[in-house]
Amino acid sequence: MLQVKNLSKTYPNGVQALKDVSLNIGNGMFGLLGPNGAGKSTLMRTIATLQDADSGSITFDGIDVMKQKHELRKVLGYLPQEFGVYPKVTAEEMLHYIARLKGIDNARERKELVNALLKQVNLINHKNKFLGGYSGGMKQRFGIAQALIGNPKLIIVDEPTAGLDPAERLRFNNLLSEIGENIVVILSTHIVDDVSELCNDMAIIASGQVVQCGNPEALVADMRDRIWSKRIKKDEVAAYQQQYNVILSKLSAGDVVIHVLSDQDPGSGFAAERVSLEDIYFSNIA
Ligand code: ADP
Repeated sequence: MLQVKNLSKTYPNGVQALKDVSLNIGNGMFGLLGPNGAGKSTLMRTIATLQDADSGSITFDGIDVMKQKHELRKVLGYLPQEFGVYPKVTAEEMLHYIARLKGIDNARERKELVNALLKQVNLINHKNKFLGGYSGGMKQRFGIAQALIGNPKLIIVDEPTAGLDPAERLRFNNLLSEIGENIVVILSTHIVDDVSELCNDMAIIASGQVVQCGNPEALVADMRDRIWSKRIKKDEVAAYQQQYNVILSKLSAGDVVIHVLSDQDPGSGFAAERVSLEDIYFSNIA
């Protein structure tokens, strides 16, 4: 269990990136969902011991994360948002190198591990290619392989699918979903579908604050019968926003479909809408 308690962080330029953030995260895949600038990376980097908070505490399995950084790093696998690779090194060489850094000294054991990881992330046929020639999706899968070295109990992946095309994203999410239910995996993302596809627990973070948390399906069920939709013309949007609690609007074949949050049927041609996690997200960050 990872426990984050009352975590706050203000950067020297005055930006308050985290405001009294508290979260309890158990085994399985946890989604941290929020728009750009919400504070996700700040929180992920703090949990990964790469930067300090101003106040608050983090504990993981008896480890005081902010004080026992070395202990936490031993059980951590981390895929940062900006994952740079050495371009003129092959995947196999790099995994060997990282495995040695993580203390896997026995050459045979290391070879078996590296091979198993390359198979797991489906890069075995590309193991002798330079990392510089990898596609975005291949780099991210390589990133997962390096994060898995050393049997981590806590895995943090920060915005992993942001630059991937749909097929690469699907392949990457399939890989994540197989990582295992007996460890804590935190997926930070601004992509709502990543969370609905993968996570059994989640939090929404906006402007440095946790604004919603729980099981995605339960959150959706709680919102039942309160979302209404209507197709309107683009130039009508402003007027509808004045009159109704419009939580999201999306383009659809040249028109705009708006979703309105309301306990009662707003009438005027609105139809009851099947609630999705997107509605939960936009009603919380608006
Ligand atoms: P997210 O990962 O959700 O996009 P971040 O944690 O990167 O959010 O950023 C949260 C806020 O803190 C943003 O306003 C961002 O501009 C600011 N910020 C992030 N890192 C720094 C930094 N090193 N110095 C100053 N401000 C920062």
